Amino acid sequence: MRYDVAVIGGGVIGCAIARELSRYHLRAVVIERECEVGLGTSKANSGIIHAGHHGAEGSLKGELEWRGNQMWDALADDLHFGFKRVGDLTCAFDEDQRATLRQIMEQGKRRGVPGLELWGPERIRREEPHLSHDIVEALYAPTAGVVNPYEACFMLAESAVRNGVDLALERTVVGIRPSEKGFEIAAVVGDDATPELIKARFVVDAAGLHADAIADMVEAGGFRIRARKGEEYLLDKRLVGYVKRVIFPCPTPTSKGILVIPTYDGTLMVGPTATWADKDDLATTAEGSAEVFAGARKLAPGISEKDCIAEFAGLRAVSDTEEFILGPSRVAGFVLAAGMQSPALTAAPAVATVVLDALRDDGLELVAKDDFEPGVPAPVRFAELSSAEQRSLVARDPAYARLVCRCEIVTEGEVRDAIDRGARTLDGIKFRTRAGMGRCQGGFCTWGCMELLHERLGIPLTAVTKRGGDSYVAIPRLEGAA
Ligand SMILES: Cc1cc2nc3c(=O)[nH]c(=O)nc-3n(C[C@H](O)[C@H](O)[C@H](O)COP(=O)(O)OP(=O)(O)OC[C@H]3O[C@@H](n4cnc5c(N)ncnc54)[C@H](O)[C@@H]3O)c2cc1C
Repeated sequence: MRYDVAVIGGGVIGCAIARELSRYHLRAVVIERECEVGLGTSKANSGIIHAGHHGAEGSLKGELEWRGNQMWDALADDLHFGFKRVGDLTCAFDEDQRATLRQIMEQGKRRGVPGLELWGPERIRREEPHLSHDIVEALYAPTAGVVNPYEACFMLAESAVRNGVDLALERTVVGIRPSEKGFEIAAVVGDDATPELIKARFVVDAAGLHADAIADMVEAGGFRIRARKGEEYLLDKRLVGYVKRVIFPCPTPTSKGILVIPTYDGTLMVGPTATWADKDDLATTAEGSAEVFAGARKLAPGISEKDCIAEFAGLRAVSDTEEFILGPSRVAGFVLAAGMQSPALTAAPAVATVVLDALRDDGLELVAKDDFEPGVPAPVRFAELSSAEQRSLVARDPAYARLVCRCEIVTEGEVRDAIDRGARTLDGIKFRTRAGMGRCQGGFCTWGCMELLHERLGIPLTAVTKRGGDSYVAIPRLEGAA
């Protein structure tokens, strides 16, 4: 297997880079250790497309947040993932914090972020009646948005593949050797002890939490990535519409704080915490929950832990300098996209263009294809169709008449389509269709999704996993058991 470019890591950064590469006449591959793309930090975050005014002036994070922010509308139009601009409010509780709001507003204005406004208590109460009456002023930014981040990964990857990029899934990179014509990448496939060799003229390191280990394989690193955990808590649908915008407290120099987030699908989410953790520690904790709900209640006093229906944690990949490590490395042909902590989801489309510039500067020829196809077919969302549209769809294909998920109204046809478009796990189905995201959290639909994975992939039910690896759901019947 010989490629022009190998991208290591299929998170939002790797997928955005892959789609950008697919515009050109070249052979590219994304190497990802999980069985689907987007199952790392890119699926476990706040899902905010930051407005563009938060990041400090002169920082790469600040500059690329704003550049990336402006690229999401066109991407969502082409790729049909959930994205909408809901705006955000940053809230001040005292005079010092009011001064910080002004500083952030001026910073945003200098960067060109439009529509920034300061709101007094009356306007805040009118627009967001459930916020605390202790908030003395808030900075409104209409450019903030919310996105379904996992959908964005799936669709970016699907677009890249439709335009000729290869996906090498379930391959863990264990070694890279510089060669005469570029690099030889050793990737372990599943439990197989003999690594597969993938050859590429150029390598992009987009391996998230493990980008330091990948760079060290060719001595292109010299930086460390640490994991900073963020716990997030999803609330019951009862609270849909409780706030309309993303609500921030006033930031400190090290943190954006605990937020109240109306997710793309309307469900409210509160979080995240920020604590150092091991690179595989995805546990939520009693302390984290207490911190998140105390922080959320300060902004919106009616929020209660009693409304929590699901919780998760994600791990930020934090570099020694807290900045993105992006662009050429000390090894020719080896390009870095490391230290991609927040706002790297927002910045991802802009990060991809920076990586392509670095590859071009390193000697990669970028000849645009005439037949690049920017769009992908929109997935069916049965629950969002009119009754007439539903009837006509069912007449054409009865699989859309069989309900798999009752909470979110997801049909067998949609689950089948998700599997045909790449879902390999229960989480893969959940993140593509919402089956399992509702109030019962998969209590009803898990079995239906397992059966469909079994039928369409031709795998035993005992091989179905929640999120790949050994996250099996059913165990084989013990010999001799009744
Ligand atoms: C709690 C939390 C909230 C956040 N909220 C926001 C937000 O609201 N807005 C925002 O802009 N950003 C946010 N972020 C940041 C954002 O989620 C990340 O910056 C972004 O997802 C990073 O993407 P990535 O592709 O670099 O990493 P990942 O998604 O982790 O992808 C890296 C991939 O590399 C693969 N990989 C690793 N090692 C190997 C190997 N040896 N071989 C093969 N594959 C390998 C992994 O399996 C993984 O899939 C948040 C982060 C957290 C943790």
